[in-house]
Amino acid sequence: MDLPGAPDITLREGRLMVEGVAAVDLARRFKTPLYVYSSAVMAHALASYQNALAGRDHLLCYAVKANSALAVLQWFARRGCGFDIVSGGELERVLAAGGDPQRIVFSGVGKTRAEMERALAVDVLCFNVESIGELELLSEVASGTGRRARVSLRVNPDVDAKTHPYISTGLRANKFGIAHEDAPAAFARASRLPGIEVAGIDCHIGSQIVDADPYVDALDRLLDLVERVEADGVPLAHIDVGGGLGITYRDETPPDAGALVARLLERIDARGHGHRKIVFEPGRSLVGNAGVLVTEVLYLKPGSERNFCIVDAAMNDLMRPAMYGAWMRIVECAPAQAAAVTWDVVGPICESGDWLGRERTLAVAPGDFVAVLSAGAYAMSMASNYNTRPRAAEVMVSGSEAVLIRERESLADLTRGEHLLGDDARAPA
Ligand SMILES: *Cc1c(COP(=O)(O)O)cnc(C)c1O
Repeated sequence: MDLPGAPDITLREGRLMVEGVAAVDLARRFKTPLYVYSSAVMAHALASYQNALAGRDHLLCYAVKANSALAVLQWFARRGCGFDIVSGGELERVLAAGGDPQRIVFSGVGKTRAEMERALAVDVLCFNVESIGELELLSEVASGTGRRARVSLRVNPDVDAKTHPYISTGLRANKFGIAHEDAPAAFARASRLPGIEVAGIDCHIGSQIVDADPYVDALDRLLDLVERVEADGVPLAHIDVGGGLGITYRDETPPDAGALVARLLERIDARGHGHRKIVFEPGRSLVGNAGVLVTEVLYLKPGSERNFCIVDAAMNDLMRPAMYGAWMRIVECAPAQAAAVTWDVVGPICESGDWLGRERTLAVAPGDFVAVLSAGAYAMSMASNYNTRPRAAEVMVSGSEAVLIRERESLADLTRGEHLLGDDARAPA
């Protein structure tokens, strides 16, 4: 099998291998549904960025929301990465995983006062601020604690990233960022606020972007602003170009991360900004191809219009197909005994939108395992307990070693914190 971006996830004589471990063996050992991540695939993706940035003043901030498992965060922290967070919860995860607060950038349109206080207390590197209201509250909160908050203003460059509407963020019509034309005034305002120290400028134009051109357009728009804002007397130390680089799910051909970085650095140099620190916030492109979701076939239900292959993973485990109509490759985990048939692969949830793949040719029988590929990003991190389904277990593979990094939830986990109503609790049904 040729899986672009995942050289260590292979089909060997019909057996799906994650590095040196057979997916079927992991399914039997840890049960299903099961997320499995390859450390080697993550290393491969990270090296692509790091090699292209070598010798530059830079910071690579892994976007936590793509996959926020503590062990995944620890893996990136150990390799010197910073983190892009979007909530106080993600901040605590990064700290628990050993991440360096001095390498955290705090993004998001709706930071609360409590989140600001905590992030200031641990002294995160930078707040990526998205509105004047947020800027003013942050100044007030920082001043109240006798600090100054380092900020970058997130600018909406109004470029079309040509991706799915739900994951396009750099258009004027999106809720994100400060409009390009409003940015100079916003920087001027920021520079006069007592609790604010202006550190940089940032943008993030969307996700699953498979073309380098929107990045170059956005960068040009950012550099225009940098020049304008500095001419107004506000120095900007760093430029943060966000994340968003796509991966191959089917036949997309995104640029290699190294090639994209090289192209952006070239543009930065050509415009005379080579001295600046450059920040990237990749999520999907670091972990997306590293994960597979292994699931067991429960029932086959052939029909006159469609044939259904019912598996034990569902939209609560993997929301991308239901939410974005995303196509994700599904393969058998072991050589098939059955004949190949075209199936709609669906989960047990009571929703017609609960599908993982439609019209897939698979040779499967009940009890067999199949795997959804490229499930390392926006997969487990978006999982829910809908239909009171415990969230899946997660395993990290390195060579021939497999480590359980998250236990499967128990039913007790699911009702923790719930209370029955007073006396009725004791009333017989
Ligand atoms: C989600 C997000 C990212 C990461 O996006 P990917 O598409 O996973 O690379 C980076 N920066 C911000 C501000 C984000 O919201």
